[in-house]
Amino acid sequence: MAEDSIVCPTCARVHPSSERFCEVCGMPLVHLVGAEQAASERQRAARKIKPQYAEGELVKVAHAENQPEAEFIAGLLLEEGIPCLLRNAIGGYSAVIGAREVLVPESGAQAAREALAWERPNSV
Ligand SMILES: [Zn+2]
Repeated sequence: MAEDSIVCPTCARVHPSSERFCEVCGMPLVHLVGAEQAASERQRAARKIKPQYAEGELVKVAHAENQPEAEFIAGLLLEEGIPCLLRNAIGGYSAVIGAREVLVPESGAQAAREALAWERPNSV
């Protein structure tokens, strides 16, 4: 077996397998198998981002119970052209299974809340 390296799906930085999150972007790291696909997904999504939604300080627009839910929300936002960042809601303590906060630039916050309103009526 090759060395069990894991990579960041966003910036493609390689980390030792003892790491769980990218030190640069905070994204959950993935094994090399599938990483390429994830990266191209991200790049495809990144091309959709609307510059007018990418300005200002990051504000929280949603709360997710876990990473899959957070990824789902992120996908919805990207569909609307809104860039977002997922952050551990409780710091690094329960990094793998903990709740996530979904942050977007201030200029995209209103659109993000509207995009999520029909999916998550009780969020935030
Ligand atoms: Zn990264």
